[in-house]
Amino acid sequence: MNHYIPYGRQCIDDDDIQAVVDVLKSDFLTTGPKIAEFERALCEATGASYAVALSNGTAALHAACFAAGVKPGDEVITSPMTFAASANCALYIGARPVFADIDEKTYNIDPHCVEARMSERTAAIIPVHYTGQPCNMDAINAIANKRIPVIADGAHALGAAYKGRPLGKLADMTTLSFHPVKHITTGEGGAVVTDNEDYYQKLLSFRSHGITRDASRLEQNEGGWYYEQQLLGYNYRMTDIQAALGISQMKKLDRFLARRREIANAYNEAFAKVPGIVAPFQAPGCENAWHLYVVRFDEAILGKSRREIYDALRSRGIGVNVHYIPAYYHPYYRALKYERGLCPIAEALYEQIISLPIWAGMKDGEVAYVKDCVMNVIQGRG
Ligand SMILES: *Cc1c(COP(=O)(O)O)cnc(C)c1O
Repeated sequence: MNHYIPYGRQCIDDDDIQAVVDVLKSDFLTTGPKIAEFERALCEATGASYAVALSNGTAALHAACFAAGVKPGDEVITSPMTFAASANCALYIGARPVFADIDEKTYNIDPHCVEARMSERTAAIIPVHYTGQPCNMDAINAIANKRIPVIADGAHALGAAYKGRPLGKLADMTTLSFHPVKHITTGEGGAVVTDNEDYYQKLLSFRSHGITRDASRLEQNEGGWYYEQQLLGYNYRMTDIQAALGISQMKKLDRFLARRREIANAYNEAFAKVPGIVAPFQAPGCENAWHLYVVRFDEAILGKSRREIYDALRSRGIGVNVHYIPAYYHPYYRALKYERGLCPIAEALYEQIISLPIWAGMKDGEVAYVKDCVMNVIQGRG
């Protein structure tokens, strides 16, 4: 194979391109009919009653924290095994992220650790459906006990299900990302889905400066021009250009998911019985959406470090990656007095993991090449 295989990438066809061009020739470039249509598609796919499209997945997390009523000085519990945004959203509001360790097998946040980190300041719990495998939501929702809002970071999990329930039914709010490496893309983009009408209204308002024109929500009404800023929101709007791309992409979601599952199965088959390799464990009742395929390499058995394996795969043109550096290892968090040792299971996992390429447009030959390279590298061939 003489070309570079990234760990993830978008799949854009001519019909996606045409959908974008059509919007460019229409009356609305932003917040027009395509936003509502995209939001309906998201509701359908996630089983949620409401969806709010936003400028990116990070804005979605920020908006969800706001809608949940998180305030300065509060605490928000999340996983360290995630992208920084899952914790940064608490900092945006002046709240403190509190990291709860992960489960040794699923790598998802461990409900027992969540329980141990609860305090009278806990204002939200943000479980992350890591790699696309749903967290133990029954246990997490029981701990939250309808008192603490649960915001699932579903950036990896569009199309996932838990005990037969679709993604949008698993938490009070679920955030999505449409970055090009995710299941579907809008370039940049994100959304929050929820069944709660009050959250929905707050999210809509937060997305657009806290301004409303809805006559039924105004404190007074001075005429047709009149609108009110009722809270401090942001400009977190998605454009109609992006939403049109999203609508076109959503039509392909089932196909994209099926292909990701196929690739994961091919990797599972290749690695399941190889000593020194731990293929991703699948919890019963969880339908993984397979955003990432994360392999654990045991240096004690393989005689090769993660770094050696990573470099060897990179030198063969495979865009392997590491998801993730524990969020609180970053200098910004260190400066906020987070210390190593906080979540030992996540820290140990970080030392051993590599994400292999998985995306819907990957060819069988590319999947086979990745499998062969992994085996050759760990067996010291070539
Ligand atoms: C991608 C991602 C985000 C952020 O999404 P953006 O759209 O890039 O802002 C948040 N959380 C997780 C776990 C992600 O993978």
